[in-house]
Amino acid sequence: MIKITLPDGSVKEFEKGTTPMEVAKSISEGLARNIISAKFNNTTIETVTPLETDGSLILYTWNDKEGKTAFWHSTSHIVAQAIEELYPGVKLTIGPAIENGFYYDIELPTGSISDKDFPSIEKKAIEIARGKHDYKMRAVSKAEALDFYKNQGNEYKVELIENLEDGTITFCDHDSFTDLCRGGHIPNTGIVKAIKILSVAGAYWRGNENNPQLTRIYGISFPKQKELTEYLALLEEAKQRDHRKLGKELELFTFSQKVGQGLPLWLPKGAALRERLEQFLKKAQKKAGYEMVVTPHIGQKELYVTSGHYEKYGADSFQPIHTPKEDEEFLLKPMNCPHHCEIYNSKPFSYKELPKRFAEFGTVYRYEQSGELHGLTRVRGFTQDDAHIFCTPDQLDEEFKEVIDLSLYVLGSLGFDDFTAQVSVRDLDTPEKYIGSVENWEKAEQAIINAAKEKGLNYVIESGEAAFYGPKLDFMVKDALGRQWQLGTIQVDYNLPERFDLTYKGSDNELHRPVMIHRAPFGSMERFIALLIEHTGGNFPLWLTPEQAIILPVSEKHEKYAQKVLKSLENNEIRALIDSRNETIGKKIREAEMSKVPFMLIVGDNDEVANTISVRKHGGEDLGAIDVTMFTDLVNKEINSTLKTFKE
Ligand SMILES: [Zn+2]
Ligand SMILES: [Zn+2]
Repeated sequence: MIKITLPDGSVKEFEKGTTPMEVAKSISEGLARNIISAKFNNTTIETVTPLETDGSLILYTWNDKEGKTAFWHSTSHIVAQAIEELYPGVKLTIGPAIENGFYYDIELPTGSISDKDFPSIEKKAIEIARGKHDYKMRAVSKAEALDFYKNQGNEYKVELIENLEDGTITFCDHDSFTDLCRGGHIPNTGIVKAIKILSVAGAYWRGNENNPQLTRIYGISFPKQKELTEYLALLEEAKQRDHRKLGKELELFTFSQKVGQGLPLWLPKGAALRERLEQFLKKAQKKAGYEMVVTPHIGQKELYVTSGHYEKYGADSFQPIHTPKEDEEFLLKPMNCPHHCEIYNSKPFSYKELPKRFAEFGTVYRYEQSGELHGLTRVRGFTQDDAHIFCTPDQLDEEFKEVIDLSLYVLGSLGFDDFTAQVSVRDLDTPEKYIGSVENWEKAEQAIINAAKEKGLNYVIESGEAAFYGPKLDFMVKDALGRQWQLGTIQVDYNLPERFDLTYKGSDNELHRPVMIHRAPFGSMERFIALLIEHTGGNFPLWLTPEQAIILPVSEKHEKYAQKVLKSLENNEIRALIDSRNETIGKKIREAEMSKVPFMLIVGDNDEVANTISVRKHGGEDLGAIDVTMFTDLVNKEINSTLKTFKE
């Protein structure tokens, strides 16, 4: 008999050789029907793998991340079989599961695959799936494995096998198809009910551009047709909300090949929106006791040698700038922290003066490969809403809570209400990996967990995810499309205070090391605005949106009255503009609707006589004719319902 420990801590005895599927059956038939993958002693196995020793077993369904990985990886085998049948002579290489679906890299004998070919691949693949073929793992010797692929003339698999150790090599069979594979499959192909080929791209073998270029086929699959339909609708919605598309339509930002890839140019409307976000945070930060500082965009190379950034990132980043004077080297600032450490070092502090909180909207530059660049989310220059808090170890608890309050305020004011917190702590088995005393680490980790608890956050603790220099807390924010974004990292740091020899005089009159906290509720302004665009679909909160209202004169003769309305709106601090074009009112309304301005103010004969504006909300709701004062009240009421004052 063997002892199997289940995730709830219960231990059950089974006969040696029992499979995960049999364990599931012993719990319930319903569970057994849904089990598609398993992990035994931290190794992914098949649901039919015999368990030979004592150990801990986790069973996975489609609803688990691990279940989806097995599902999609298994589908890649089916798609590979379909491709092999449709394109004889094709050479298969690798086919892993990815975050959403899977891909398979192949070398086609001739020609290419385009989206016109997707339906026939999908049809063939689903036919194969319906055969309900079991996935069967089988051990093969290295010689046998090499023979198999040499016979096929597949030099890619041969190369993979040559790098494997004899005795560790396995094949996976289903139907008439065989693939070199480490395992991790669902029980049979019949569980896959819907398959969609999503796109095709070029990819170099092993990611090396000196190697042959292969065809990468991306796909996704589901256990129900309905789930695929929903997923495709979500993809379409994401396309409509893509910040690159909306950023252009709403005239927020642009890129210029002349200026350089990955370097966003903010247009007037985008710059104004960004400015409002900055003011919003600055106001809250002032209340929270932060002081603004300003530092240059470059720093001496030595600065980053001291901080350790040069050693870690120097080779893969922008190279030093050389001045006419010899031996002078500067780097574009990749981080603001070293500059802020030197601000702290500009005068001595006593414990009574701490914490010091230095904030800066600091622009930093990081080299990203051109293939990695993506709109505003992956850029080469961006601005962080950065701040560094220098405090005593005893103040960490309180400071952490304050930063969480600020982050929650930011998320709430911008309409993000679905998030969890992730607390990253040490791996206790490898203490040598971490800098700083055990006592300090314990204190800091406890401070973060206490703060998360006290603030009522829904949090998870990830052991081993902390940086070598300190534990941290991240907000994992779900956007309107259900995608997860990591935002508002709060990072404790024991490293930089050491490297920059930061000190304060304690009550004992001795010098001590302060603890440093890095925090940025938005993260980067660029990435945050991209997220905000996609989350809101361009319908920003009223306090933030570029124009709050657009005045639409019914005809030319109402232009003068429209000007008068604009003046009084401006006096009431409402952002508005007039559409004075010589177009029909119908066309003006349609275009105003497209531009997502929250309120349309239509002015015609009756309005002019009654001194009113006819208000129509974005989306079509008609609010009737009211005067400017009433409209101002309406706008302010709506703003105040989302934008609260920090710590009121
Ligand atoms: Zn496989
Ligand atoms: Zn920092």
